[in-house]
This record gives sequence, structure tokens and C-alpha cells, in this order.
Amino acid sequence: MGMGDADSAAIRMRLIEAEFTTPRRTGDSGRRARSTEPAAPVDLGILAYMQASVDEVVSHTRAAAPDAPPPPATASAVYHWMDQNTAHLDAEKRQAAEVIVYRQALEHALAVGDESVVRRHPCPDCGCWGLFWRASARRAACVNRHCSGEGQAAHTFTLAQLARRHVASRESAVRRAT
Ligand SMILES: [Zn+2]
Repeated sequence: MGMGDADSAAIRMRLIEAEFTTPRRTGDSGRRARSTEPAAPVDLGILAYMQASVDEVVSHTRAAAPDAPPPPATASAVYHWMDQNTAHLDAEKRQAAEVIVYRQALEHALAVGDESVVRRHPCPDCGCWGLFWRASARRAACVNRHCSGEGQAAHTFTLAQLARRHVASRESAVRRAT
């Protein structure tokens, strides 16, 4: 349960690490040498972002499972650690953990510029597949004019809302199948 999400959150966290926090050396693959980005060795904002992500997972897991062993030192490994230590909890607590992991996987994708993850969710209000990411508002917005009504502002959703909905609908699909 939720194993796929932990994998995808971990893989995307490692992508962020590779993209933003790998110190540039001369004589490496050369990928960085062709980059037009300024030559800052490490993006401090991204480090703070990664730390905040890890802190959220660790503090949530410790609150839900006080007997959990200490978290792993590697940032991307905390997702499986959370999975392992919340798997035995009741459905509500397990789902709360899954929502965090799923939401963070979305956040990590957006952090490296992959906005396609937002389009893979149906609009929570009208069910259409016309969600797009509004970076300035940090919300997904629906393109369907019939969703909000003529002349009204588009309906928008936080990543947490999309994640809660995704986990809940997957859970009910599992229940229907069993
Ligand atoms: Zn809509």
C-alpha cells in the first residue's frame, strides 16, 4: 500500500538533488558546463525546501508511530521509512501518511518544472481533465468555463486537495475491487 508513491517521491527527491545540489566540478559529465544558469554551487532555497519536506515526513511519522526507529540520513529514504512505520496503523492514519507522500511527489515534480503531474488529475469540481498549474498562486486551476460559470474566476485547488482526493478515490477503488 502506497509503495508506488514512496518510490516516486524518493525518485523525484533524488532528481532535485541531482539537478540543484550537486556541486559543480571541472571535468564532470559536462552537462553543467553547457548550462546557462549562474554558477552558484548549491541552491540554498532548494536545500531548505528539501529539509522542510523531510521534516514534515519525519514529524508526521513520529507523531503517528512514536516507536518508529530513527529516520534514515538520506533525504530520499524517508518515504520508505514512513511507509514501513505507518503500514500497521489504521486506515485513516495510513491514508494521512499517503496523502503527504503523494503531495510531496507532486511538489517535487513541480520543483524541477514538470507541470504535467497536475494534468493527470481530474478537476475535483467538474471532473474534466483540464487542470493546469498556476505557479504564482501555487494552485491548480480548471480551464473549463462551465466549471466556474460564465464570467466567474476559475476554480482552483491546492496540491493537498488533489492529493487527498487521489488517495481517497484509490482507496474506494480498492474497496470496490475486494
Ligand atoms: Zn473543473
